[in-house]
Amino acid sequence: MGTGVIVKVLVTGGAGFIGSHLCDLLLRQGRQVICADNFSTGSEENIRHLSGNPHFEFLKHDVTVPLEVETDEIFNLACPASPVHYQRIPIETTRTCVYGAINMLDLACASGARILQASTSEVYGDPEVHPQTEAYWGHVNPIGPRSCYDEGKRCAEALFFDYRRRSKLPIKVVRIFNTYGPRMHPSDGRVVSNFIVQALRNDPITIYGDGSHTRSFCYVDDLVDAMARMMATPDDFVGPVNIGNPAEVTILELAELVLGIVGGTSKIEFKPLPQDDPRQRQPDIGLARSTLDWSPRVALQDGLGETVRYFRRLINGN
Ligand code: NAD
Ligand code: UDP
Repeated sequence: MGTGVIVKVLVTGGAGFIGSHLCDLLLRQGRQVICADNFSTGSEENIRHLSGNPHFEFLKHDVTVPLEVETDEIFNLACPASPVHYQRIPIETTRTCVYGAINMLDLACASGARILQASTSEVYGDPEVHPQTEAYWGHVNPIGPRSCYDEGKRCAEALFFDYRRRSKLPIKVVRIFNTYGPRMHPSDGRVVSNFIVQALRNDPITIYGDGSHTRSFCYVDDLVDAMARMMATPDDFVGPVNIGNPAEVTILELAELVLGIVGGTSKIEFKPLPQDDPRQRQPDIGLARSTLDWSPRVALQDGLGETVRYFRRLINGN
């Protein structure tokens, strides 16, 4: 892009949790942003503050249908992301992953745009390698209740690399690990939103299994910063690159942290672990550190504090 030319960026899934924060960041960086979303799991509320911004445009659009817009860069985020959401609409989820990827890759070819895929740590499945590096091919159940998402995202990665091989398309693939922060959906069933909402309502904190399984949680501001940095890398750098916070905690530790921040009278309640629930997950972010000059800045305690403030306002109106 020459000096003074405004870069036009398309964000699919831009009305979702991560997508809306990415739209905010891109606008702060002086981009013209087109947000395309069908509101299946996202909401108008997440982007209401952007209406009236002359650099922001919203398109109600389903990515399984081809799209024609002028764009220089595409961030492809459209996809339900929480197990509760995608298991409710498994076939639509695979369709969104696969047709959505094809349609956005075709758009990138037609418009000469760079395109970034929001892939996921779920491509590693229930990993046998710990922490997970990008070289690990994964351990995914192809026929289980998580397969629509895991295999859909794996297929999308395959498509990105085939388009690259066929058309030399400037692709970028990031594998996002568990992310949390304001604008998570209060009933998406994800562990951070569940625990915070339960604690704020003094309801039991539901731990699935014995709480010894682990996740590594990245604050959303850190994540979108890395995504923007990835898009800005030279054309010959395509990834995949892990993006996440390597600080790994057990689910029991997370419950105790949330209870410590919220206070209240919630008790911990143990429930059965869902099928195919990965036992542990921690990103190796060596590649992101060296290629993006990036590492997460927000500690879990601080990020949870911000997220609790958001949910407190949402639930109690204060
Ligand atoms: P989200 O559900 O809040 O956002 C997804 C957005 O995509 C929603 O606004 C939804 O309405 C939209 N969408 C879904 N299907 C669509 C379709 N067919 N056409 C147009 N829009 C559609 O989820 P999120 O947590 O913000 O996740 C965003 C992306 O990041 C997803 O691709 C997800 O797979 C990926 N990701 C998220 C996490 C995480 O921890 N949140 C981890 C790994 C990967
Ligand atoms: N989990 C839990 N209680 C809940 C929600 C989730 O113990 O109320 C567990 C879940 O079984 C998983 C972990 O927390 O082991 C993270 O779940 P989430 O759905 O947030 O993300 P994912 O499993 O996709 O990493």
